Amino acid sequence: MTPIDLSNIPLADNHCHGIYQAQTPVDITAWRQLFTESSDPGMRSTHVTTTLFYRRLIRELATFFECEPTEEAVLAARQQLDDQRLISKFLRSANFDVLFVDKGYPPLELLLPDTVISNLANCRVAPMLRVELLMQRLIAENSVLSTVVEALRAALMDVRGQGYVALKSIVAYRTGLDIRTWSIDEVEEAFAVARREVQERGSVRLAHKPLLDTLLHVTFAEAARQELPVQFHTGYGDTDADMLLANPLHLRAILDRREYRAMPLVLLHECYPYTQQGAYLATVYENVFLDLSYGIPYLGYHEMLEFTRAALSIAPFSKLLYSSDAVGVPELHWVSAMDGRRVLGQVLGECVANGDLSKTEAEEAGMAVLHDNAMRLYKC
Ligand SMILES: [Zn+2]
Repeated sequence: MTPIDLSNIPLADNHCHGIYQAQTPVDITAWRQLFTESSDPGMRSTHVTTTLFYRRLIRELATFFECEPTEEAVLAARQQLDDQRLISKFLRSANFDVLFVDKGYPPLELLLPDTVISNLANCRVAPMLRVELLMQRLIAENSVLSTVVEALRAALMDVRGQGYVALKSIVAYRTGLDIRTWSIDEVEEAFAVARREVQERGSVRLAHKPLLDTLLHVTFAEAARQELPVQFHTGYGDTDADMLLANPLHLRAILDRREYRAMPLVLLHECYPYTQQGAYLATVYENVFLDLSYGIPYLGYHEMLEFTRAALSIAPFSKLLYSSDAVGVPELHWVSAMDGRRVLGQVLGECVANGDLSKTEAEEAGMAVLHDNAMRLYKC
C-alpha cells in the first residue's frame, strides 16, 4: 500500500479555537492539562502523560525542536522562543489557508486578536459565532421573553454581514441534541428560572431546556433563511457532556423539518465515538456534513485511522471536512495538521489498494476533505 502524499495541501481547518497571548505555562501541570478533557486532578496532572496522544506529541515536538524526546527537553526548547515567534513557527510549518475560529471559547481577553494570528500564520482567519453566549447575554439584558426572542432574531438577521462565516452550538453538552418544541407555559417557566439566576449572579449559564430549545428554533430559522452553516458539538467533550445526549441521531427531529433544509449542519469531532452514526447522517441528509477532528479528541494513531476509515467508507467525501479543534497552544493546530494529512493519506492509499478509488480520485478526495469542501460550504 502506497500512501497518498497530502503534505503540500494548504489546510482549511474548519473548526479550531484561538491562541493564548501568554504561551509560557505556569508549571508542568498547567502544560499537561492542555491535553486532557478531564476535570479530575489526577487525570490532569499524571495520567494524561501515558496517553498515546501525549507520547506521540512529545516525540513529534522533539523532532520539531531537534531536542531529546522527553517532556523536560521539549518544554525547555519551547521556552527559549518568545511567544509570537513560537506561534508563528508552528502555524507556518502547518501551512494553513484558512483557520475557522470558534469565538466562544476560551475567553477573548486571553487570546491574540484574529489579525495577529492571521499575520503570524500567514493565512486567513474566519470567525464563527457561538449562539449560546449571545442568548445568555440577551437573557441577562431583557426581562421579557418575547423581547429576548425579537432581540435574538435581530442579532442573527445578517450573520455574514457581521463578519461571521458560521454559527456554533454547544447544546449537546448543555441540554442535549434532542431539540424539541415546548408549550409557551413551559418556556415561560424556564425563562423565569433563568432570569432568577441573572438576578442572583448577574449572568446565566443557559441550561434550561425548554428555553434553549426554543431559542435554537429561532436561530435555525435565521440560519436556513441565510443558508448559513451551523456547527454542532457532538460526541466527545468535557465532563459537562452527557454522552448519550451528544449522539447525533438525536438531531433527527431537526433534520426532518423541511423549513430547515437550507441550513447546513456540521457535526463536529467526528461525533466520536458515534462516527458511524454521524457518517450515516451525512449520507442520507444532503445538508449534513461530518467534521473529522485530528487534535481533539486526543487519540492514538490507530483510532484516528479507524474513524477516518469509517467516515470515508460510509459518507461521500464531498461531505467530510478536516479540523483540529485545537485550543490555546499552536502545537495542537500543528500536530493535528500533520496527523490529519498523514492519516487521511494512508487511508486514501488503502482505498486505492482496495480498488475503491483510482490514485487520481484519491488525490481529489484528499484535496476535498482538507481544503475544498470547507471553502465551498462556508463560501470563503
Ligand atoms: Zn471546539
